Amino acid sequence: MSQHIGTLSEPNIIDGTATAAKMLAELRSAAADLAERGLTPGLAVVIVGEDPASTVYVRNKIRRSVEAGFRSFHHALPASTREGDLLSLIERLNAAQDVDGILVQLPLPSHINPEKVTAAIDPAKDVDGFHPLNAGRLTIGVSAPVPCTPLGCMILIKSVRPNLEGLSAVVVGRSNIVGKPMAQLLLRESCTVTIAHSKTSNLSSVCREADILISAVGQPGLIRGAWIKPGAVVIDVGISRIEHDGRQRLVGDVNFDEARSVAGALTPVPGGVGPMTIACLLRNTMEAACQRRRVAFPLR
Ligand code: NAD
Repeated sequence: MSQHIGTLSEPNIIDGTATAAKMLAELRSAAADLAERGLTPGLAVVIVGEDPASTVYVRNKIRRSVEAGFRSFHHALPASTREGDLLSLIERLNAAQDVDGILVQLPLPSHINPEKVTAAIDPAKDVDGFHPLNAGRLTIGVSAPVPCTPLGCMILIKSVRPNLEGLSAVVVGRSNIVGKPMAQLLLRESCTVTIAHSKTSNLSSVCREADILISAVGQPGLIRGAWIKPGAVVIDVGISRIEHDGRQRLVGDVNFDEARSVAGALTPVPGGVGPMTIACLLRNTMEAACQRRRVAFPLR
């Protein structure tokens, strides 16, 4: 079943940066057309506290949304913000006419219940796709905003293997924001899907069965070259910061040097899934804007 894409000595490296740049250019052009018709998609980004990684993610999301010609609303709240005050802000954003998408950056400080916050967002403005209603819709195959990272992974997978029917897919990681929705998307493409996690026994042999292998764990180098079926498409969602030669470096879950000589196609870290997440967030926001204003979504 596995169809080899690159050569064994020189596998295809899937360029997420280039794919995301193309998506962002399409979004920018579509946003300019919509603006002429009086519709400018608006994205509200809320951050509570000053977690350094979250601050960088939020800054990038705002920068990209402005570059794409969207309206951007930034709400930076102190770590001491009370849950009730955050819920009141969400209520205001739910009612705001110029806000089409609401993103509350996770993780939240420990005194705030993330489930309560996610459930407070209007499902029509839930551009992260984390609201329980949208998670349920994804599960039963009804149209809904799809969580941005799994959506980005799916676009990258289909860029190298358009037809996934009947392929064996293994998702390592079962979080609500990556692993589970990723598995749903693969099921929707008629893959035979296995979800592996921290309690899975014999993870290496489970992974070796995969035509499509997605790792979303956050453990550097977990996936070894010998765990990969020759020719498989390998998507590395993991992001970890490690110290290398006295400098901070971002690495994924996959041992890249080992994997590149076995995989048919492989995403690097950085430059793989990461840039796609923001592009998909803007795509979800534009789609939400079009739906709310009853305008046809201009992109495929
Ligand atoms: P999470 O901590 O919620 O989930 C991690 C999952 O990994 C869990 O389901 C756990 O069961 C599993 N796991 C832990 N140790 C394991 C092991 N030894 N073997 C097999 N499974 C194991 O994390 P998350 O939010 O799903 O994120 C996962 C990774 O993806 C993190 O590194 C995160 O930074 C990264 N991430 C990247 C993006 C992106 O845009 N590229 C977006 C979201 C998350």
